[in-house]
Amino acid sequence: MNIAVVGGGPAGLAAAVAAYDAGERDLIVIERDRHLGGILQQCIHNGFGLQWFKKELTGPEYAQRFIDQAEERKIESMTGTMVLEIQYHPEQPEGYTKSVFCLSPSCGVIEYQANAVILSMGCRERVRGNLKTPGTRPVGIYSAGLAQRLVNLEGVMPGKEVVILGSGDIGLIMARRMKWEGADVKMVCEIMPYSAGLARNIQQCLIDQNIPLHLSTTVVNIHGKDRLEGVTIAAVDEKRQPIPGTERYVSCDTLLLSVGLLPENELSRALSVEMDPVTGGPKVDEDRETSIPGVYACGNVLHVHDIVDFVSKESTIAGEAAARQIASGNEEKTASKGALIKAAGNVRYTVPQHASLLNPFSIYCRVGQPQDEGKFTLKALVNGEEKVILTKKFVRAVPSEMAEIPVNEKQLSEIRSLFAEEEGQLVLTTE
Ligand SMILES: Cc1cc2nc3c(=O)[nH]c(=O)nc-3n(C[C@H](O)[C@H](O)[C@H](O)COP(=O)(O)OP(=O)(O)OC[C@H]3O[C@@H](n4cnc5c(N)ncnc54)[C@H](O)[C@@H]3O)c2cc1C
Repeated sequence: MNIAVVGGGPAGLAAAVAAYDAGERDLIVIERDRHLGGILQQCIHNGFGLQWFKKELTGPEYAQRFIDQAEERKIESMTGTMVLEIQYHPEQPEGYTKSVFCLSPSCGVIEYQANAVILSMGCRERVRGNLKTPGTRPVGIYSAGLAQRLVNLEGVMPGKEVVILGSGDIGLIMARRMKWEGADVKMVCEIMPYSAGLARNIQQCLIDQNIPLHLSTTVVNIHGKDRLEGVTIAAVDEKRQPIPGTERYVSCDTLLLSVGLLPENELSRALSVEMDPVTGGPKVDEDRETSIPGVYACGNVLHVHDIVDFVSKESTIAGEAAARQIASGNEEKTASKGALIKAAGNVRYTVPQHASLLNPFSIYCRVGQPQDEGKFTLKALVNGEEKVILTKKFVRAVPSEMAEIPVNEKQLSEIRSLFAEEEGQLVLTTE
């Protein structure tokens, strides 16, 4: 096997299709779920694909387009098959350097030997245990994504009186969904002084539905013996600590938690891929190649994306690069010293974290705090001095939305001339 793709969500499918279109025929997509398509199969709302397909699609429609593309190309896939472990054998430079061990009910344990592996396992939701919220442990506390699966795929309503903690996109979408299904959605509480969701979702899912959003507010206690009976909410200060005296009891039988996503990187860590503590995903170069040669990462396993169109774009880069590497080797890239890319100021992280500087590329980033009327500045550090390479203005940058900073051929050759001798350092910051 030349390429093994781990995970058959939008990232894995786009990477596989791109690798095929770049000439690779010996590849497989391995997916643990019953069907391909990933988390999008339960996202039955619209709003997907405006950038990639120039059309507004539902999640399943978006996923189906990639499933169809994979089927048209007759790309092999194994569903109901969980990848348990990936091993790297650098001592076999001419042979297959990776072993991918999987488990499936029909085939038992399978080992695929591969030249390249594309990690596209997506992410999972943070749950109550991650928050350490005090109180009892009754039935009725769900992650928002689980509630979404129950309502949209299994036809089960988790409850009737709902409080939602967290105003990220999943929480917002589920506020509207539960209301449309007949629940009394009492409020969405958000610990930050601003929502983590897209502006269009705040308008369509909360304002249009008359669901109140309480900012700088969190759940501080959970009540109920068998079934959830209510929660205590409280205002928080600027350090996100509850303010004594602001507690309020809200009766509800269901609490949905939409408190963040965690890239699912157990396989990557076990493989000793170098990780970025801020993104929770592997560190990669502009090809989305990790610190292990021939191991690529893309999609939510790399960093949590705001829209799936960016996932498709990123995964196409990874798939093409993996195919290119297998076809022609990576000698040019190995010879290039390249540059580290660091985040500074209000830039929380960048992807990639390293660039080989062979071709024009884009840096994707997120800010830590909302910021109006500013600019992103990319600087090169040379002998302790900073040299501005490019700036990109923005009207408003918010943590929930990813920004793209393209580095063109002219800027690239300037960087190359600065870092001709040794690995350089680029810094992306906001001003
Ligand atoms: C509620 C919700 C609402 C959203 N709304 C929007 C929206 O309105 N617009 C938009 O553009 N985007 C939206 N998104 C984001 C979009 O769904 C994601 O960006 C996209 O699905 C990420 O693709 P992925 O392939 O990286 O991950 P996933 O879709 O999670 O796919 C990963 C796949 O890997 C498989 N996998 C994991 N581990 C293994 C293993 N060990 N072995 C085999 N298979 C494995 C999983 O089963 C899964 O199928 C939303 C997401 C959610 C959850």
